[in-house]
Amino acid sequence: MTTKELGFVELEWTCPRCNTRNPGTQTTCSGCGAPQPDNVQFEAAAAGQLLQDTEKIARAQAGPDVHCPYCGARNAATAATCRQCGGALDEGARREAGNVVGAFHAGPPPDIVCATCGAANPGTATTCQRCGAPLARPKPVASSPATPKASRSGGSWLIVGIVGLVVGALALFAILSMRTTEMVGVVREARWVRSVPIEGLVPVQHTAWWDQLPQDAAGVSCQPALRRTQDTPADNAREVCGTPYVVDTGTGVGRVVQDCRYEIYEDRCSYTVDEWRVVDTLEQRGTGFAPEWPVAALQPRQRLGRGSERYQCIVSAGEQSFTYQPRALEEYLQCQPGSEWRLEVNSFGALNSIQPLP
Ligand SMILES: [Zn+2]
Ligand SMILES: [Zn+2]
Ligand SMILES: [Zn+2]
Repeated sequence: MTTKELGFVELEWTCPRCNTRNPGTQTTCSGCGAPQPDNVQFEAAAAGQLLQDTEKIARAQAGPDVHCPYCGARNAATAATCRQCGGALDEGARREAGNVVGAFHAGPPPDIVCATCGAANPGTATTCQRCGAPLARPKPVASSPATPKASRSGGSWLIVGIVGLVVGALALFAILSMRTTEMVGVVREARWVRSVPIEGLVPVQHTAWWDQLPQDAAGVSCQPALRRTQDTPADNAREVCGTPYVVDTGTGVGRVVQDCRYEIYEDRCSYTVDEWRVVDTLEQRGTGFAPEWPVAALQPRQRLGRGSERYQCIVSAGEQSFTYQPRALEEYLQCQPGSEWRLEVNSFGALNSIQPLP
């Protein structure tokens, strides 16, 4: 992140004795004449305009003011002796600096309503135009407290209940699956299916950054897109800055700054390259024990993919009929029509195991 300086703005401080708001660069109260105590902080003022006064700006750049160790008066960082009592300032306490005092709002400040008489006064006024009472700056409205989160205990009990139900259902399912009935079945039919994918060399679309395009990329079309964000400026970067805010310099003047990041846009390209993809699948099916692979007539830029085979053994036991799928050809070859098999059928009517009878 880069912090950009936009300029300087006058702050203010409120006299703890008489409540008068004083311009930040003024070291004694215009209401009662008391010096600003070192523990009275500067606050953001309503002034929505950057300072043009080069003297005030130079003082802000010189460093935080120093409070006299003898009389407490506030002096510029560059002063060697106190302007009020003449004492040496070497031992004086430097004011704090670097705190953020608020956001910077350009433009005229909102009116201030007098707490004593209710009159509306311009935002820059320090005393009421009607009754003369000091005007306190309205404190920024704190954001409304977050809506309390719904009690979590109700939700967690619901989850416990759901988990319990799921576990119960799974256990019941497992028990029912394990309870089996044995029966003897007779093979009615043996079926096979063999399929082979046909792969073609076809253009497939991809996207990549301009400097990562493969050499055989075709049909390239590019558009600028956000590639990365960095903290430092660059020629081709788009600057994105946050809301300006004011930092206390310890001199009654605030530094107006803005945090910026830099978005780098580069060409993002779509392109195609030729890749092998399945374009068709051939299938051959039949019954009996001489399964065949389908015969393919390949076009140019085509090849055969890896074939797969599936077998089915249809077994009937009484009124019921079961379909069993042998995994390998040898197993399938045992599935002779008319042969007898021992079946284990579970409570859901599904086959748990099947064995040829000796
Ligand atoms: Zn005062
Ligand atoms: Zn002094
Ligand atoms: Zn008033």
